[in-house]
Amino acid sequence: MSRIASVLLPMPLPEAFDYAEPEGMGLALGDQVAAPLGPRTLRGVVVGLREAAGGNRPLKPVEARLEEPALPEHTLEFIQWAARYSVDAPGAPLAIALRGARAPKPKPHKVVETTGTAPARPTPARAKVLAAAAEARLSPADLARAAGVGAGVVKGLIEEGVLAARLVETEASFDPPDLSRTGSALNASQAAAAEALRAAVREGGFNVTLLDGVTGSGKTEVYLEAAAAALAADPEAQVLALLPEIALTQAVIARFAERFGAAPGEWHSDIAPPARRKVWEGVASGRCRIVVGARSALFLPFRKLKLIVVDEEHDGSYKQEEGFIYQARDLAVVRGKIEDAAVILASATPSLETLRNAETGRYRWLRLSARHGTAELPDVELVDLRESPPDTGRWLSPPLVRAMGETLARGEQTLLFLNRRGYAPLVLCRACGERMCAPDTESWLVEHRYTGRLVCHLTGFSMAKPDKCPHCGAHDSLASIGPGVERVEEEARLLFPQARIAVFSSDTLFDAREARRLIEAMESGEIDIMVATQAAAKGHNFPNLTLVGVVDADLGLRGGDLRAGERTYQLLAQATGRAGRHERPGRALLQTYAPEHPVMQALKAQDRDAFLQAEMAERELAGLPPFGRLGAVIVSGEDPPGLEAFVQAMAKAAPNTEGVEVYGPADAPLGLVRGRRRKRFLVRAERTVDLSAYLAAWRARVKPPASIRVAIDVDPYSFL
Ligand code: ADP
Repeated sequence: MSRIASVLLPMPLPEAFDYAEPEGMGLALGDQVAAPLGPRTLRGVVVGLREAAGGNRPLKPVEARLEEPALPEHTLEFIQWAARYSVDAPGAPLAIALRGARAPKPKPHKVVETTGTAPARPTPARAKVLAAAAEARLSPADLARAAGVGAGVVKGLIEEGVLAARLVETEASFDPPDLSRTGSALNASQAAAAEALRAAVREGGFNVTLLDGVTGSGKTEVYLEAAAAALAADPEAQVLALLPEIALTQAVIARFAERFGAAPGEWHSDIAPPARRKVWEGVASGRCRIVVGARSALFLPFRKLKLIVVDEEHDGSYKQEEGFIYQARDLAVVRGKIEDAAVILASATPSLETLRNAETGRYRWLRLSARHGTAELPDVELVDLRESPPDTGRWLSPPLVRAMGETLARGEQTLLFLNRRGYAPLVLCRACGERMCAPDTESWLVEHRYTGRLVCHLTGFSMAKPDKCPHCGAHDSLASIGPGVERVEEEARLLFPQARIAVFSSDTLFDAREARRLIEAMESGEIDIMVATQAAAKGHNFPNLTLVGVVDADLGLRGGDLRAGERTYQLLAQATGRAGRHERPGRALLQTYAPEHPVMQALKAQDRDAFLQAEMAERELAGLPPFGRLGAVIVSGEDPPGLEAFVQAMAKAAPNTEGVEVYGPADAPLGLVRGRRRKRFLVRAERTVDLSAYLAAWRARVKPPASIRVAIDVDPYSFL
């Protein structure tokens, strides 16, 4: 009997396609295959195999089974679960899972080996080369170096046939973790937390722990012990640590490397394709036992994943909002369940979702309430900008400037935090009032002085800054309104010309290595004042940093979406938490126009729990997450009447279900993106409702014309 293989292709197709298995191919679940689709051949993965019943129309055959690692069953299960939850095609998460498999292999490299032929003319230099070649297989250049001779000697031996050069595949090798090494001596509360985590890991099976500790309390030290326990318990066990930012992965990689004497696999979008391939294969084969990465590392083909750490679990960057939409923290818990692994969610400012799970006992809850050693949490002061305004055209208030001067005089460091890239968020014509906007998107263009361009932060559109107003033609009339990090840097340079000042923002840094260099420069005290967006405000440890100035503490509160208060609190608590992490006490100054706001008061009093309890009560009253579920449906099209007709039809088609309310359609706050008009629905459901199933059923009832796109965002973070 012949068999039928269901093959999932990494494309937005609703389901796997059936192909005939050619005689003798011997396919197994998870195998990577080449399969035809129309005129093309694609890489896909076998997700089902069954005996063919007679009488069906003939199927196209699978073209080939690829000689490459198969996807483990649990990985397949996870991909399918994720697609169902996100109401998306399973090919979308599969494409993420295959990103490493599709990357080019590292180039084979040349090594030289002895052939057994003796040299016709032995010399001491030649003898040294032969001795070195007997020890290790090296490239010709490395061999010459190892033997301490010139390259000509090796070349001569190759020409004579005494040595032979050949190409070998670069193997994905990862040094095994050295489990005999020990970590830092832990203080009492760290030791208790580490012991609880070790027990959770050794117990085996799925469990989730919230590791809730103030900034600098040693959460990383503690979860490294859990990793050690997982690796020691089973020689095949693998550990995954997720970080919300690439810049943070670098620091945590260094801590893993130090703890286990071996570099972990590194995974994020900045990794070069051959290195990506290497990590992917290492994970699939089980040779790579520790991975530190950004959210997409969750889709790697782990063979035996036993521990997942989600560091800074509250961070909004875990939500992927383009392409396949997912929340990596939530999916990490799902993956943990599928893999029967322990999960640790670590944060100083846990999300309300996680706190709720800890409060109700679904997650274990470990707290570290003090900083390690003598370090104290910084004093937080509010600067009321109504009373102490900066000078006109300036952004730093007199109290903050004074504190910066004192810090500089003591030889200590300042971090100025402003979560706004570029020079100025708005460019306006003084003559006619025209605001410079992107041509096809309803958003202001942000001025970047380093590049001299006006940039749309939503779509990436950019143009050179014009010398006259495109609307009224007035010359030199374009004014830069408001500050971004580049402008605050300019002001800091004017105020403190002698200080060493740097900007840390995704625009000013080229790649992960450059980011790491800047972080190291800050760590080692080569920078006096760092002006940074959120990328540098989280997680890092700057021993000599004693002053944090938040330039615009109110920034995140505007716009007022569901999580505005929570997010502002988390971000500012993280930012202020950078100060005074070592012996010297720290101080944080928050510039605000709303010092009476509960977020500002909670930050000042450092009373996280009171603030979160108040937030929690409000959410409960409104039935919002974590007490209810939300889903967003974003419909876009180029033709406004066609779009309107479609969303009206869609509104009528919404299934009537107990415990579900549908709001909309409404114009999206961001009404035009890349030339497409946007409309939104918001769905609120009771916790008991399967919201994904509801949204899938709704979408199945409507068939959008080809020009209209329907995107579903389960548990939205952005309400634009
Ligand atoms: P968190 O992850 O909670 O912010 P870290 O683990 O980064 O905290 O610890 C903060 C700083 O204190 C780091 O420099 C870390 O090396 C140091 N530290 C924490 N615990 C210890 C310990 N038990 N022994 C030595 N240093 C520690």
